[in-house]
Amino acid sequence: MRLSICFLLAFVTMGARAADSVSLAADADDPGVLVDAFYSDAPYNDSCANDRKFAGPPTSLPISNAKPDGECRQEVVVFTTNKRVHVVEAPGFTTADTDTVDTALTAIVDLPVDFWYIGTPGLTPEQKSAIDQELNDHLDDASLAFESSRAGIGFTKNSLTYIDDLSWAQELAGIADEVFLGVASPEAFRELIGKHIGLDGATGPPHQADPAHLNVFVLEFASEARGFHISSEEGVPKGEIMMRYVPELGTLAHEIGHALSLDHVNFVGLDVVHRDIGEYCIAFGSFTYYKGVCDYEAGNVMWAGQVDALRNTLTEGQGFRASLNSLSFVNLHNYRPGDVVRNCADWQYDEQCPYLALQIETADQDIDQ
Ligand SMILES: [Zn+2]
Repeated sequence: MRLSICFLLAFVTMGARAADSVSLAADADDPGVLVDAFYSDAPYNDSCANDRKFAGPPTSLPISNAKPDGECRQEVVVFTTNKRVHVVEAPGFTTADTDTVDTALTAIVDLPVDFWYIGTPGLTPEQKSAIDQELNDHLDDASLAFESSRAGIGFTKNSLTYIDDLSWAQELAGIADEVFLGVASPEAFRELIGKHIGLDGATGPPHQADPAHLNVFVLEFASEARGFHISSEEGVPKGEIMMRYVPELGTLAHEIGHALSLDHVNFVGLDVVHRDIGEYCIAFGSFTYYKGVCDYEAGNVMWAGQVDALRNTLTEGQGFRASLNSLSFVNLHNYRPGDVVRNCADWQYDEQCPYLALQIETADQDIDQ
């Protein structure tokens, strides 16, 4: 009798360990994956799992036994802190529990950033050095937010240009404040910038902005406006960012988030999605809760109006969009050539698009089944 019990335990242990796996680069840090497939184990009992979440060891990540089923979409999406978001469409799962999904993880997307300092003319080298350091800190903060959240995108300063024109700097700051308050158009702001910096390929002005770089206009004299990002009237991000010198840490990361197609998490209408699937959701202040769990951390980069807390985290649902959306600056300027591109609105949740608030580490957020 004892012998048979031991045999049974051994059998169960072996059964639990068998799993398909995702092979990862040896230095893939903190990997997490989303898997779309047919699963027979709980809680997916014989059903199509959409965005099943796995996190774990860095080189070969077990993902239970995904099986073929003609009704089920098959896809694996890999997120790490040091590689770009990687999508394997149609990984070809078989009935065996030894399938290995090969990935060719590549370095994070590195977006170049050009800063334009528009303020007091005739700064000393020491003053310029201090500004340079401050802007580096803000850009490092933005990179850390996106990289540590596994969005696979970082930012590098390409240039910092000081423009000496006091009256222009003051006028531009005034218009920036009016844009921020909604009483002037971004186009008026851009027109005035064009006096010194050519935009959209205009070559008259003494300086020329590279439209394939993120251009950050740093305004010393802005008083109302902390920051904003400019899109075309059709909603296509221009990667042009106004930033006051200096706003709260996290503002630059937030404006870059807009350039990467992300909107404010408190305005995406997710309550409607929840109600549609018969779940309970309440809005409490500016924070939206789902089944007692806050969908977004207070430090989410895309909270609108957040000034008290540092904005330094993104969800994998946001990182997916920042990396893959065709309207993200990353793809508008082809920084991921050949990689999978999607069109996922913030509110969208289906087999092509993970839930915006999806976080791989949050086990009880089971809206994504
Ligand atoms: Zn915003």
